[in-house]
Amino acid sequence: MDYQAVLESIVEELRPQLGRAGHVASYIPALARVPATQFGIALRTCDGVEAAAGDSATPFSIQSISKVFSLTLAMQVAGERLWARIGREPSGNPFNSLVQLESEKGVPRNPFINAGAIVVADHLVAQCVDAKAEILGLLSDLCAEPIAFDEEVASSEAGSGHRNLALSHFMKSFGILDHDVATVLDVYFHQCAIRMSCVQMARAAGYLCRDGAHPRVGARVLSEQQVRRINALMLTCGTYDAAGEFAFSIGLPCKSGVGGGIIAVVPDRLTLCVWSPALDATGNSLLGRCALERFTARTGLSIF
Ligand code: GLN
Repeated sequence: MDYQAVLESIVEELRPQLGRAGHVASYIPALARVPATQFGIALRTCDGVEAAAGDSATPFSIQSISKVFSLTLAMQVAGERLWARIGREPSGNPFNSLVQLESEKGVPRNPFINAGAIVVADHLVAQCVDAKAEILGLLSDLCAEPIAFDEEVASSEAGSGHRNLALSHFMKSFGILDHDVATVLDVYFHQCAIRMSCVQMARAAGYLCRDGAHPRVGARVLSEQQVRRINALMLTCGTYDAAGEFAFSIGLPCKSGVGGGIIAVVPDRLTLCVWSPALDATGNSLLGRCALERFTARTGLSIF
């Protein structure tokens, strides 16, 4: 298949819609300044073929896509213990919702809503010498390029992250967090503030389509079963309360972030990353979603 031609045609078709609909995330002040008229897409196949189009080399704030990689690191260092304090069910609620936590005694529904990712960060604080450095180390190793935090975004999140503070203190009151809220949120805010391009992200996610095998070197990132579980969680929980709609119209495990990025996995075939900053009401990239719909329609690649 000529993936390069597919990606270029998607960019051409969607270009007229850039900046027309959706809104850049504004609740994190440093993200509100990102121009909406950007669009990039990149993929990497299991055997290392790459294709990219549009603003595919422009770094963006990966935000909640980082939850896939922090979960990966936590699976490596904490193993099954992780699931004692995190569920595996879709929430059917926005990513920063507080409502379920009270009735469910502070146990987050899944690792891809904010509360769940904060518990994952708590595990990383327990198991890693320097959790922030290890997250960067994992991503840099996976995509073979140095990856860094955007410190301005991290401090902007820390200054405006009232909901994440509320979620964390609430969980702490139920005994769900072992470490102090400030330490755990410092890890969480930094992982969200990582900057990567679509090309780097498509490479880094490569182990998700290769049954856990490292995208380049002959090592293993996770076991086949662990990667199957991550892909299942991405399909059911990766795009929050739009996960049903994503499965219906795209049919691939996806993980989105409010920076406008979305990664998608075609098991045994390829990983893909699309980025466009304007979001829909569920916090998912509006044009990113359109691009993924076009990609699966054109290539016939879907898990169903
Ligand atoms: N840093 C963002 C937050 O905590 C991440 C949310 C997202 O990308 N969905 O609110």
